[in-house]
Amino acid sequence: MGWKTLDDMDLNGKRVLLRVDINVPVEDGRVTDATRIERIVPTVNDILSRGGNVTLLAHFGRPKGKVVEEMSLRQVLPALEKALGRDVAFVPSLDAAAQSDLQLMENIRFYPGEEANDEGFARQLADLGDIYCNDAFSAAHRAHASTEALARLLPACAGRLMQAELSALEAALAKPERPVGAVVGGAKVSTKIALLENLVNRLDVLVIGGGMANTFLAALGADLGKSLEEPDYYDTARDIMAQADKAGCRVILPVDGLVARDFAKGAAHEVAQLGPDAKLADDQMVLDAGPDTVALIETAFAGLRTLIWNGPMGAFEIPPFDTATVAAARAAAAKTREGTLTSVAGGGDTVAALNQAGVADDFTYISTAGGAFLEWMEGKTLPGVAALGG
Ligand code: ADP
Ligand code: MG
Repeated sequence: MGWKTLDDMDLNGKRVLLRVDINVPVEDGRVTDATRIERIVPTVNDILSRGGNVTLLAHFGRPKGKVVEEMSLRQVLPALEKALGRDVAFVPSLDAAAQSDLQLMENIRFYPGEEANDEGFARQLADLGDIYCNDAFSAAHRAHASTEALARLLPACAGRLMQAELSALEAALAKPERPVGAVVGGAKVSTKIALLENLVNRLDVLVIGGGMANTFLAALGADLGKSLEEPDYYDTARDIMAQADKAGCRVILPVDGLVARDFAKGAAHEVAQLGPDAKLADDQMVLDAGPDTVALIETAFAGLRTLIWNGPMGAFEIPPFDTATVAAARAAAAKTREGTLTSVAGGGDTVAALNQAGVADDFTYISTAGGAFLEWMEGKTLPGVAALGG
């Protein structure tokens, strides 16, 4: 934890360049989900209340270094003003002077220097402020001028949201209370190899679920009919299991599953025993973990002090194939509420699944950072965090 926070900065009378992620969904010129905007409010208010002047730096969409009117941040201004409960000035270009104690700069990706992490462009930005504050963890896996180069040119610190995210992630993986375990699920092994390889070397227990568990079971000899699996990754799966064995990480694979013939809501389904000897019919597929697996996971959770979760245990979008995900999520949530477990989860579908289980508020921390969260789970250094001294 080498990074500074707003607590370490003297903000009075200072111009603060605040990098935020307000890349929110917009339909017909209206923001349809303001979650990202709401989450930066504490940081903005903190700086303002301590006498700082705030210039918000943010990107919107992928204009690729050109002015694209449909990607102007102007359309986000009303939602921003609503969340903050006050006026926010809009600065249409870098050459326009700051107008107020709080302003939003036009889409920083309109400038080619942004994504190029151009030093000269970062200097231009640095001239606009005295202090740099980064509150955009979700953009920290990208080395862009407003997330990386700029942080090296001004006294730099993490905003409140970044601080919460980094603290939670450090508590979960950098220096967790042990035993520490993870649930890794989702569709495919191929998208999560680096993540699995990093985790097996750091964890005491790894629960593998979802479609990717099929590949692990098939690599051990199971015939899983028309289940989603990746034959090209059998070797990878075996290699990950060998690494886990060497590192002393216990791997838990499903011992049973919910099996169906159709990928449809309420499809006829049955419980099938899984394992290296399993043999399903050619037209059957595993769409969720079964009750014995859920019991196994709950027992494993009981011994843990820290849990990291990425990826659902089954095709949770289609009930009843959300059963294992919901049950395991509730077990983790109950232990967290009791105060015996630190639980951190992230990933687009994972967050949706935890919301569906009604437990999102019970987890210690839920990361909405997407790509940055996954790269952090892979053990990669995030340029935007490294530039803060982390
Ligand atoms: P995240 O977005 O949280 O990182 P992923 O994108 O890796 O998660 O995985 C989520 C997807 O995996 C979901 O769409 C879910 O339906 C799918 N999935 C999970 N288990 C299975 C399965 N057994 N068969 C098919 N798809 C599955
Ligand atoms: Mg996903």
